[in-house]
Amino acid sequence: MRKQLGFYVDAKRCIGCFTCAMACKNQYLQDTGVIWRQVYPLKTEIYPHRERAFYSLACNHCANPTCLNVCPARAFYKRDQDGIVVHEQDKCIGCGNCIRSCPYGAARYNPVLKKAEKCSFCWERIDAGQQPACVLSCPVDALRLIDLAGFEEPNAVQYPPGFPRFPSLNPSVRFRVATTPTIIRRSRT
Ligand code: SF4
Ligand code: SF4
Repeated sequence: MRKQLGFYVDAKRCIGCFTCAMACKNQYLQDTGVIWRQVYPLKTEIYPHRERAFYSLACNHCANPTCLNVCPARAFYKRDQDGIVVHEQDKCIGCGNCIRSCPYGAARYNPVLKKAEKCSFCWERIDAGQQPACVLSCPVDALRLIDLAGFEEPNAVQYPPGFPRFPSLNPSVRFRVATTPTIIRRSRT
């Protein structure tokens, strides 16, 4: 397998602090209403302790990105060296095809620029030998940068509960599923 960078989302560690999402906004000085990374609490049917389990999600830099395939302006390309899906905003004509086609809701409309945009995987930082801003900022190491070509984590899953399954896209993301915390009851004596 060729090198394919992806995000490892550790739902067992994530505390839902939104630091990753804020770091993303800071990195790109994003306008109000522009969000590339979002932190979602798991539904109570999936995880009974709703306030304690989250998925931090952005673009999945899919192996077969539908955004790239539907763009009439060829504003997307997938990097040969690491599989990052890059959106070139200067080419974007704001038609919305990518936004409508991405089943993960990762491509979004920028109402200020009137163009689409999405997580860039901080490719400029990657090329400088640095971690993506979201990964670097997480205070509990719940987000990691992984190379799927050599990734072997026995407990990692591609489609955890609540994350939509689209095998044709083959999203470059892996998860550690949250487990129910151990409840320790105080003795009344
Ligand atoms: S998650 Fe959506 S925007 Fe990101 S590469 Fe896949 S299809 Fe494209
Ligand atoms: S910074 Fe880390 S702990 Fe906080 S919401 Fe993001 S992934 Fe979760």
